[in-house]
Amino acid sequence: MTDRLADLTRDLIAFRDERDWKKFHTLKDLILSVGIEAGELMELAQWIDTAELEARTTDPAFRQRLSEEVSDVFLYLLLICEKTGIDPIDAAMHKMAVNRRKYPPEKARGRAVKYTDL
Ligand SMILES: [Mg+2]
Repeated sequence: MTDRLADLTRDLIAFRDERDWKKFHTLKDLILSVGIEAGELMELAQWIDTAELEARTTDPAFRQRLSEEVSDVFLYLLLICEKTGIDPIDAAMHKMAVNRRKYPPEKARGRAVKYTDL
């Protein structure tokens, strides 16, 4: 894990423990929380088209909300990783290697289809 990510994880755990919230952070509830926060992230895109959504990324207030919801998802993912001993960087690098095998550029380039349909 990178130093910055390790520092962030330590800060997050300290934040949790200062509030005695570890007892609420079951694996089940952490996983549900990722989905709930992902829903809040998706709310930012609800009812507007792609062009409007992308235009809003230049609005400081919107960027702040986007940053906060991305962070909420990310922080719950870090809590899941900390609880289960998964190194998020190692896991993501491994998944990238898997994805490279699943989606070879000569088959996947410019195509938005699942690997099973390549
Ligand atoms: Mg949120």
